[in-house]
Amino acid sequence: AVMSSKGWYKEVIQILHAKFGLNSFRPNQAEAINETLSGQDVVVLMPTGGGKSLCYQLPALVKSGTTKGTTIVISPLISLMEDQVYHLKNLNIKAEMVNSKLDADTRSEVISTLVKGELELVYISPEMLSISRVMQMALQTMYDKHILARIVIDEAHCVSAWGHDFRPDYMALTKVKNDYPGIPIMALTATANNQVLLDIVNCARPNPLVLKQSFNRTNLLYEVRKKGPKVVNEIAEICLNYGGKSGIIYCRSKKDCETTAEKLRSHGVSAEHYHAGLDSETRSKVQKNWQESRTHVVCATIAFGMGIDKPDVRYVIHMSMPQNMEGYYQETGRAGRDGRMSKVYLFYKFGEYLNIRRMILEEQEVQRDIREHKASLLLKVMQYCENTVDCRRKQVLQYFNETFDSRLCEMKCDNCVAMRGQTVVCQDVTELAKDVVRILESIGMDRVTDQQCIDILSGRMTTRTRESNYNKLKLFGCLSSYGLTFVERLVHDLLSQDVLEDYTKRNSRFAQTYIRQGKKASNLMHDKMRIKMNFPKSNETRKASN
Ligand code: ADP
Repeated sequence: AVMSSKGWYKEVIQILHAKFGLNSFRPNQAEAINETLSGQDVVVLMPTGGGKSLCYQLPALVKSGTTKGTTIVISPLISLMEDQVYHLKNLNIKAEMVNSKLDADTRSEVISTLVKGELELVYISPEMLSISRVMQMALQTMYDKHILARIVIDEAHCVSAWGHDFRPDYMALTKVKNDYPGIPIMALTATANNQVLLDIVNCARPNPLVLKQSFNRTNLLYEVRKKGPKVVNEIAEICLNYGGKSGIIYCRSKKDCETTAEKLRSHGVSAEHYHAGLDSETRSKVQKNWQESRTHVVCATIAFGMGIDKPDVRYVIHMSMPQNMEGYYQETGRAGRDGRMSKVYLFYKFGEYLNIRRMILEEQEVQRDIREHKASLLLKVMQYCENTVDCRRKQVLQYFNETFDSRLCEMKCDNCVAMRGQTVVCQDVTELAKDVVRILESIGMDRVTDQQCIDILSGRMTTRTRESNYNKLKLFGCLSSYGLTFVERLVHDLLSQDVLEDYTKRNSRFAQTYIRQGKKASNLMHDKMRIKMNFPKSNETRKASN
């Protein structure tokens, strides 16, 4: 409808059918195409699998738009480029790429066809744009000859230091709008919170059209599980239940990828590992085996992902917590691209959060404010994992500033199942929470870790308790009748809700993570907030009688 009044409407529809073999547009594709053909800047936020490529590939073939010439696509990954160019050439579209992997002869050959205006699309790596004089001159010549149709910034979140995927090479892109005045810019990404979006919009001229589509992946089932010592056995069981269906297991380190794949194989799962430490030949072999369903499972670091387009991934497992919600969204988004029901699992334990956090804060080569920012992104993931009350989908979407009515989840996440399937009851534990704050107050700063605090609350006599005379405290053991697991959950819940906070302090020998009252502690103490927690139904009577 948006387009039918435009001169290029007929041609666009014809190309959609004849070249791409598609029947109709998906949400926002027509709007994006229309805007760029009108010569306007546009920012497209679309979840993975939403169909971003068509938004720039189709207009590149349109002859009746406002702009003429070649579409330049800046793309961060060579493998991604290769896939796209291969695919386009198969459709008889004149597409080429320029990147550091090409030998100098091929590169200058491509550039000379480009300057003659013989290409419809050209994919360029960001470093080619920022360092290659030849490339820069080619673009200038095209601009002068009026054969530069538009500039596309794919995976645009890479421009932002606040994104999970920042590439310094992408910095140069923030100035293309000045280098090529009048040439429409299209920036596309699958993940953008507000801060990242601001940086992306900054690449365009004032007030670009921002097309944002719901990030809700209705066909994904969400579940967070407690990570115990037998996590790999549990994962093996999941994989075996899926039979020969495809899955991805995201691991935190290269070592984890290797050992997990090996253990899975010993359980009879067809698994291989993938990480940046492998040579590129092995990497593409592993990817291809999996892509073509010869191996069923890949145990991978987050290096595995961008550019893979396998429609029938039935499950994604995070064996360790991801470092931020954007990454989590992208990685889980690789499941169920064909629209069929798929499941995503996240294995979490609080101790791992503390480890990752310490690692982030101690990364010496990273600027301090970026380190702190990264820690704040990690905190959000911890809060997500600890929250056993709110709909997972609602929580994920909230991160992208999208509101979601959890009644629409239809029991497609563990929390909704538990809450509405009534296997759990929600109880108000505000008064118990106040005791936690009080006990920290009586202990004082820089004294206890979360574990020690849990010990004190549940009345465990440890060496540390005895040495520091914590057993003499009035509130020592005040939650002992609730059991250690409950106390642990309560303390972590309070940490995730900012009633408590953890902080790292370095003394002469080592760094220690302590806990103290957080920003919301006084709200709690003044009855301005309530703390609720879920309990399995069988425990209900025991709890109530306590
Ligand atoms: P993204 O880059 O947003 O992750 P892609 O551009 O790779 O998504 O598209 C994902 C899949 O959706 C591709 O297989 C593509 O062919 C398909 N697709 C894109 N647009 C349409 C459409 N209008 N109708 C049907 N399928 C589409």
